[in-house]
Amino acid sequence: MRLSQFFLPLIKETPSEAQIASHRLMLRAGMVRQLAAGIYNWLPLGLMVLRNIENIIRDEMNKAGALEVLMPTLQPTELWKESGRYDALGKEMLRFPDRAERELLYSPTCEEVITDIVRNNFKSYRDAGKNLYQIQWKFRDEVRPRFGVMRGREFLMKDSYSFDMDYEAAKKTYNKMYDTYLNMFARMGLTAVPVRADSGAIGGDLSHEFHVVAETGESAVYYDKAFDDIRDGKVKMTTEEMRQLYAAADEKHDPNAIAPDRLREARGIEVGHIFYLGTKYSKALKATLPAANGEQVTLEMGCYGVGVSRLVGAIIEASHDDNGIIWPESVAPFKVGLINLRVGDAKCDEMCSTLYGKLQAAGVSVLYDDTDERAGGKFASMDLIGLPWQIIIGPKGAEKGVVEMKNRKTGEKHEIGMDEALSKVVPPKAGMAAL
Ligand code: ATP
Ligand code: MG
Repeated sequence: MRLSQFFLPLIKETPSEAQIASHRLMLRAGMVRQLAAGIYNWLPLGLMVLRNIENIIRDEMNKAGALEVLMPTLQPTELWKESGRYDALGKEMLRFPDRAERELLYSPTCEEVITDIVRNNFKSYRDAGKNLYQIQWKFRDEVRPRFGVMRGREFLMKDSYSFDMDYEAAKKTYNKMYDTYLNMFARMGLTAVPVRADSGAIGGDLSHEFHVVAETGESAVYYDKAFDDIRDGKVKMTTEEMRQLYAAADEKHDPNAIAPDRLREARGIEVGHIFYLGTKYSKALKATLPAANGEQVTLEMGCYGVGVSRLVGAIIEASHDDNGIIWPESVAPFKVGLINLRVGDAKCDEMCSTLYGKLQAAGVSVLYDDTDERAGGKFASMDLIGLPWQIIIGPKGAEKGVVEMKNRKTGEKHEIGMDEALSKVVPPKAGMAAL
């Protein structure tokens, strides 16, 4: 993508309405614009990141055997009367009449609708064991929408719902989601701490929230310091080993359950929540299936949410500096920012065009700054939008046939040849070694 053709409305000043870094940076980097309180337009750069996050989630859910569906954003309120939750969400649930005066609502969550799908379409115990997910917009009329996309009113969520024949099977599904969540967040460059959370009226210990540790987090979390070591790259652990570590939400914290010298107390951003539901909804909505012996069994459910749009903010909270965002490669909108320091200089233009062509041919996403802005402005913009690699080409280097390559995260800069620069960002051809 050529910057001159792109839609990237950067803001130089610090937006006064933004209280936290991620909100400030998402506005300054031209990723989002607020339309109304807690309701955002996603501009191209922001949408690219959102889609990258979505794709990681989709890939991990598919690997876990879950099946993607898509439910409407609008629902009839009848199902909520049937489940007994019509009044439970109060004013957070947005309701409105259609032209025939039938009441609709904008979905804040989908337990009712998915249970309705299952009760109407699953025929026998052979259909059980399925985990159905969607990535869809939700609306919750939050009292205090704030921190940009972190607590919006309209927000993108991955929500999934599992249906099993008995508790043991439901627990297995739950544990699989636990592992899946740790993997998906790790792929986004995050160490999410899985804290034991309140399981409400259902009881038991099958409720975990996944938190990204950040000063601006809205929740208090308590956890074993090993999670910090994992995040800082000091140790590696399997999900099974992580499962043994202490981690609890405020309401579940027990100071006697962990040695004081191992305890960390911090603020967390909740990016995911997994929950064993039991038969709460299946009972109310009569989602039953005949078992092998013909007996009707009320399905055991679980629900599993991820805050997709919140993650964009959470990743920035976890990864930025004074100059701007530092994207982990897996979610970065472009992998490379190519900066032409002197547009109009024949050598610079030619070298940039060659590199731009080669990167595109190799399938490496690249944003080419071909504008006539001054050098200082170009550096600041590129640091602000946080692409993992910068390749800078100026008249002196072009004369010698070298480029300057900068790693956004470490700040390291090297003067290297064009081919070496390419080899740093072009992935080795998959399968070549195996041939
Ligand atoms: P919170 O305590 O932050 O309000 P919640 O418990 O209401 O979250 P869930 O109902 O578990 O959230 O929803 C699943 C996920 O959706 C949450 O883990 C969170 O990441 C995300 N989420 C919830 N509310 C919002 C919101 N207003 N804006 C953005 N993301 C949200
Ligand atoms: Mg909430």
